[in-house]
Amino acid sequence: MDSRTASHVLSQISALVELQAGNRYKARAYQSAARAILGLDSDDLTPLHRSGELKEVPGIGPATLSVLRDLIETGESRYYDQLRESTPEGMLEMLRVPGLGIAKIRTIREGLGIESLHELEEAARDGRLARLPRFGPKTAEKILKGIGFLRETVALELYPQAFGEAMRLLTGVRRHPEIVRAELAGSVRRHREVIGDIDIVAACRSAPEKVAASFARAPGVREVTGAGDASLTIRYVDGTRLDLHCVRPEEFAIAWWRATGSETHLDDVRAHAATRGLTIVGDTLRDAAGSPIDIADEAAFFEAMALGYIPPELREGVREVDAAHRGDIPTLVEYADIRGVLHCHSRYSDGTASITELAEAARRRGWSYLGISDHSESAFYAGGLSREAVLAQHEEIDRVNETLDGFRVLKGVEADILADGRVDYDASTLDSFDYVIGSIHSRFSMTGAQMTERVLAALDDPHLTILGHPTGRLLLTREPYAIDLDAVIEKAGERGVAIELNADPHRLDLDWRYCPAAKRSGAMIEIGPDAHSTQSLDNVQIGVGIARKGWLEAGDVLNTRSAEDVLAHAARRRAR
Ligand SMILES: [Zn+2]
Ligand SMILES: [Zn+2]
Repeated sequence: MDSRTASHVLSQISALVELQAGNRYKARAYQSAARAILGLDSDDLTPLHRSGELKEVPGIGPATLSVLRDLIETGESRYYDQLRESTPEGMLEMLRVPGLGIAKIRTIREGLGIESLHELEEAARDGRLARLPRFGPKTAEKILKGIGFLRETVALELYPQAFGEAMRLLTGVRRHPEIVRAELAGSVRRHREVIGDIDIVAACRSAPEKVAASFARAPGVREVTGAGDASLTIRYVDGTRLDLHCVRPEEFAIAWWRATGSETHLDDVRAHAATRGLTIVGDTLRDAAGSPIDIADEAAFFEAMALGYIPPELREGVREVDAAHRGDIPTLVEYADIRGVLHCHSRYSDGTASITELAEAARRRGWSYLGISDHSESAFYAGGLSREAVLAQHEEIDRVNETLDGFRVLKGVEADILADGRVDYDASTLDSFDYVIGSIHSRFSMTGAQMTERVLAALDDPHLTILGHPTGRLLLTREPYAIDLDAVIEKAGERGVAIELNADPHRLDLDWRYCPAAKRSGAMIEIGPDAHSTQSLDNVQIGVGIARKGWLEAGDVLNTRSAEDVLAHAARRRAR
């Protein structure tokens, strides 16, 4: 029994248990077992079961073990089959509609007998849904929007989930004895913010078609497109999609470039090649006489066309080919350039770690400072800090700093930008912080004109050091609020306010497409983990990938500077 299928069955059981019986506790046990299985090093559970190791895996209890035993011994789970038979497929689909939780789905089923997405959509349109107890027209409207959203985004995943999945698949591909080299390609390699499918390129010792075919026959595969070819699309039982490109070693470099994309980038490079009398045919580059040119790696490929190396993050068909021809590809910011972080929540508001724990975790990552930026008073739903709590926090930070050598905790805040554009707290409280991030957390439904005015007003406040997550978007869940981002960026540049690239993988806001405009305006970019725990400090890695997509260099990023420089930046702003 392969771990992917087993994990999928466990997480399906989790959803079904909660849907049918409303038993959250039990559902969570199945969910954590599903995660535990996927985290195992081995793809095959059978030997682990035989040796007795499986029952020792943390996260697996007696109930989940009995499902696994069933799966390993018979290939099926009786419990899962029972649950599935008694639940309509459409109910599971409904679970994925944003804003539609298990309690609501159960009310809909009991009140209207609805068991499919299609019926749900009808009921939302004809007013039946709105008449259900505790629903109303607003909820019905939201559900309708959610269904539309689900239809558009059904196959997409956030970067960290997709990357984790991609690495697991890559490990499996690399284990194949006939494969000499395999690499990630596609949108994961380009570090897109959301990912539709996973691309892997593999150089094979023997016939690529045969190697590809062996993956098509592997366990956990539901459907294969292109069977018999060296390039296949494999759909696994859990919905993961893999585009696997098997090639001969001498084709690897160009195959890797092709599989990385994007389509527009490939077109631009082909057009550029043509201007030099070269053509790209399949995975080979040919000269004017049609003879193949030996290409050792991607850098050599670009060089053969008189192009500088184009990092994968830039291959979006924007202007990278022209820039590479002129030798104008910037030296992009790297994770190692980051010297500290400024957007972190401690236990004082809605974080899970203490100030000391966050500081130690930051230090372990090689940083020399960490700014605490808990929520402000108006953000009561997120445990926003009263003025007394701010005083207490500052005393604690002073105490912690006395114990640290070569590391500094800064006193920051993520202050709400109120509806009229004022920054939360009075001037003297704001003065007590080393720096202030201003963010919008309420009244998202203002018109674009009102919202723009609100943010522009906040940018006039000299206390404001950084504008936090400037559009409020939540990827795959919530659209950005209406706002004239160009006007905001221009004014931030004028006023010397840094703009955040919030590195929470759900946000990645500022969008990378706007980073060049921010740079032109003269605004610095702050890459903020928006950490609510010590682990989520690692969001910075994802944020750096997005900053690279935005053509940013180390010098454009505020937190590649020292703590002293960050403080000087805030002080300069305040003096204006
Ligand atoms: Zn925020
Ligand atoms: Zn935050």
